[in-house]
Amino acid sequence: MGTYRIAAIPGDGIGKEVISAGCQVLEELTGGHADLTLEFEVLPWGSDMYLATGTMMPDDALDMLRKFDAIYFGSAGDPRVPDHISLWNLRLAICQGLDQYANIRPTKLLPGLSSPLKTGTDKTIDWFIVRENSEGEYSGAGGRVHQALPNEVGLDVSVITREGAERIQRFALDVARSRPRKKLTFVTKSNAQRHAMVLWDEVFESVSADYPDVQTERVLVDAMAARFVTDPESVDTVVATNLHADVLSDLAAALSGSLGLAPTGNINPERKTPSMFEPIHGSAFDIVGHGSANPLGAIWSASLMLEHLGEKEAAMRLLKAVEHVTTDGSRLPRDLGGQAGTDEVTKAVCDAL
Ligand code: NAD
Ligand code: MN
Repeated sequence: MGTYRIAAIPGDGIGKEVISAGCQVLEELTGGHADLTLEFEVLPWGSDMYLATGTMMPDDALDMLRKFDAIYFGSAGDPRVPDHISLWNLRLAICQGLDQYANIRPTKLLPGLSSPLKTGTDKTIDWFIVRENSEGEYSGAGGRVHQALPNEVGLDVSVITREGAERIQRFALDVARSRPRKKLTFVTKSNAQRHAMVLWDEVFESVSADYPDVQTERVLVDAMAARFVTDPESVDTVVATNLHADVLSDLAAALSGSLGLAPTGNINPERKTPSMFEPIHGSAFDIVGHGSANPLGAIWSASLMLEHLGEKEAAMRLLKAVEHVTTDGSRLPRDLGGQAGTDEVTKAVCDAL
């Protein structure tokens, strides 16, 4: 119970539409409750700022963010700005700069929704994907040599450190331990990538020995993609490197309904810095301004944020309101097979609250 300061960064594209929806819902949630207050500050960072000033966010952005209890983020990406600039100078700069090394991606088939999986009659999906969020394939190490010449070379170097692997694997083992099945699938590709990935494996072998109560298995990433489709009920908690979990979690989102529904949190587990919560989808250029963006991913992300802040009851109430909307089915967004626009879905969640 308390007062929290939230930095809202809508960013680009439909990020603006869904964060506005999420803020409306949070206002509805906290309105009648004197013991829970969220003080929002909206930071107009992103590609508009880049086009006007040459930077996606101010130079002292990380210091500004450190003063907040949490960050509520939309999306980075605009057709007028190269993607690697918009992503690296905003979202990745915040994740790496604030050491939000654990990216969490709960995946659940909400009541009333159906999965594109046609394999079974009543297969359920209830997964928790933990993504390494500070190094690996997205470390940023690499370079371009012989630029614009025929022998030009581009290198992206995947970096796994013993410390980085250990901290994310322990985090995932703790998550697995806290869930009823106490099961963790460790994803790797050490058969083909024989340096960093082998270190990734070795660290897991030693760290997982500290968790005899957690059942673990080791699966290659390509086989894991197939398992998501062929045997979804065999999966519970999953830990993977940055790129692997990025791809697997978009697949997971699609299998559980839609990309527009999936939430994520970029967590600093030691709580030395604020954590950041966002829908996993991007700017969705194809539907910007149509008023049709699904706000449920952003709203579910707000629930994760409340949970992280220790407001478990409020977090649960918000998720229950989302589940009410999916169960009821009369005001679903287009990507979930309905007709409702962003505003109508947002209103449906507020009504459910
Ligand atoms: P995307 O998630 O923006 O869109 C993929 C598809 O899903 C599109 O057809 C889109 O219309 C649909 N979709 C996504 N979210 C939706 C929602 N809430 N409701 C309804 N439909 C939705 O991915 P993309 O097209 O690969 O990327 C577009 C831009 O977004 C790029 O600039 C990319 O770099 C950026 N991006 C940013 C983030 C981030 O900031 N975290 C994540 C992914 C992509
Ligand atoms: Mn992604």
